[in-house]
Amino acid sequence: MSWLAELKEKINIVDFLIQDGIQLKADGVDRYTSLCPFHTEKTPSFKVSQTFQNYKCFGCGEYGDVIQYYAKRNALDYYTAALMLAEKYGVKVDSKNSEFKKIQTNKELYQLNKDLEDFYRSNFLRLPDNHPAKLQITNRKLSINDRDFGYAPNDNSVINFIKNKGYTIEQMKELGHINEKNNIQQKNRLMFFIRNYMGKTVGFTGRALDSNETNFKYVNSKASSVFNKKVALYNIDEAKMEAKGKEEIYIVEGQFDVIALNQNGYKNVICISGTAFTKEMIREITRCIG
Ligand code: ZN
Repeated sequence: MSWLAELKEKINIVDFLIQDGIQLKADGVDRYTSLCPFHTEKTPSFKVSQTFQNYKCFGCGEYGDVIQYYAKRNALDYYTAALMLAEKYGVKVDSKNSEFKKIQTNKELYQLNKDLEDFYRSNFLRLPDNHPAKLQITNRKLSINDRDFGYAPNDNSVINFIKNKGYTIEQMKELGHINEKNNIQQKNRLMFFIRNYMGKTVGFTGRALDSNETNFKYVNSKASSVFNKKVALYNIDEAKMEAKGKEEIYIVEGQFDVIALNQNGYKNVICISGTAFTKEMIREITRCIG
């Protein structure tokens, strides 16, 4: 049996959907129904078949098996979704498989970003209160916290940090944190963390602290295999739950605006980090409030 077939046999779509928060109600012997997770509706038109292990929405037309469901809900392609589920359900995939290798590589890159986030954060927390990075925040009457902010030091210490963690310069280059001329992208900057819908750190925005800075005021990580700029929405991971409950989301200009609103009780706020507003972002936002 292929790993894909084994995977599908291992997951019962009904149990899976219930675990995912879908409130299924019995509708006949082996059928269930609920409000559709893919579009907004008042009466249930989402049907799930226990026998056929698939779903179909008679409102918006979405249909598929459990892998398609998982892919659609998490904005993944079918194959990536299948591989992620295989890992979760302990189904062995041929490790020579090239897609499988790609996913392993991306997992390391996500982890590198996560470690880098911790590095920036601990550097930030060590700064004195009168450091320009902290003044950027307090001068705006915002409070310092250990979730939103980091600091990229004005030296090469990040290289040692990365090497000690077992990463390579090549991986740093792949993510654009070091450029082709071996320069560190973010130095002496206040750092913001860009996380995707699932809460994984995909990139960073660094704000210049020196007013004589000839560089750009804000610098984003470059696009990479883990950072899709077309769907990157700052704070989406935190905003999504509140946005779903309220069926609305605020889209503001920059990170400081998001944080200011957050600190004043508005959690359903995102920004696009100074990039173009894309069709894909609209789809991502619709997914949140739908
Ligand atoms: Zn639907």
